[in-house]
Amino acid sequence: MSCDYLALAVSGVQKLSPYIPGKPVSELERELGISNIIKLASNENPLGPSEKAIAAIQSALPELTRYPDGNGFELKKALADKLQVNTNQITLGNGSNDVLEIIARAFLDTSSEAVFSEYAFAVYPIVTQAVGAKAVVTPAKNWGHDLAAMAAAITERTKLIFIANPNNPTGTWFTQAEWEAFLAAVPERVIIVLDEAYIEYADSGDAIDGAAYLSQYPNLIVSRTFSKAYGLASLRVGYCASNADIADVLNRVRQPFNVNSLALAAAVASLADADYLKRSRQINDAGMQQLVDGFRALQLSFIPSGGNFVCVDVEQAAGPIYQALLKEGVITRPVSNYGIPNHLRISIGLPEENQRFLAALKKVLGK
Ligand SMILES: *Cc1c(COP(=O)(O)O)cnc(C)c1O
Repeated sequence: MSCDYLALAVSGVQKLSPYIPGKPVSELERELGISNIIKLASNENPLGPSEKAIAAIQSALPELTRYPDGNGFELKKALADKLQVNTNQITLGNGSNDVLEIIARAFLDTSSEAVFSEYAFAVYPIVTQAVGAKAVVTPAKNWGHDLAAMAAAITERTKLIFIANPNNPTGTWFTQAEWEAFLAAVPERVIIVLDEAYIEYADSGDAIDGAAYLSQYPNLIVSRTFSKAYGLASLRVGYCASNADIADVLNRVRQPFNVNSLALAAAVASLADADYLKRSRQINDAGMQQLVDGFRALQLSFIPSGGNFVCVDVEQAAGPIYQALLKEGVITRPVSNYGIPNHLRISIGLPEENQRFLAALKKVLGK
């Protein structure tokens, strides 16, 4: 090619590395010519979607020729009721990744800094880099966020702080005392993005509900998703709640029809399906226990997780173990791209899937 198109890209984009998704089942089927594959790689809900969501999608199908409701009225109303905020505080996204990108585009430029932690979710560096802002990465503490170090990393250029609680890929979470000390230390001109993609799995005991802090902290944005506990990863629907002025800014950047009509209908239906959410949590709690017991039996250590996944230390470079598990028809997630070379991240599956993974792990480790 005569022209270097990468060189034409804006400088932040030139330095981007693409997000590496979990391997799709269909891809491994093509590569190995095998069937009966299980995927425990992308923190998806193993139950399949809520039946109420499927019914809602079916009723919405005849209207597919119409643009979706660009204001997402019904979904925002349902979310506002749930979070005890006004609808003008909600911003909808094509997945919460879209929300994170909208936030970065709205508030960061080449003169600004965004703070996030070592081992934090991969999308934070991508959205920061894409707009040419400077990423300030603070060292992790016990695999998790060191909130005090993050507050200390704020400079006059800092515009955003990205935090995941629980974090992906490590599953770590922080205490209410750490969180409240952090909130008190961050100036109002610095926006805190609290990513609660896994909040529905968090134990009600010591879990922090970010939405409860919105009224007191105008610089707080809480993002959530329907991709995990609500089982709608493929539809791409997430949201954030913030003060109304921030939501107004985000709404200026947002693509007018960023959430499609099927996703809107399914999200409203899922939100109302308390029984589905309860079963999702139950299957997750039991599956987490099953995996943790299995790791103990294999004498492998793991990072305790508050999400629907867990990182296990395979005590050697995880890449070849990941490959060997693929040959057993089990897709897991290597996390070496996060700087965690000896762990694999396993999403909690159905009991029989967890069992198959544990048996395959035992086999490939020769334990
Ligand atoms: C999965 C995940 C998301 C959600 O992504 P969607 O775009 O909503 O599917 C956001 N943040 C974290 C930390 C995640 O792990």
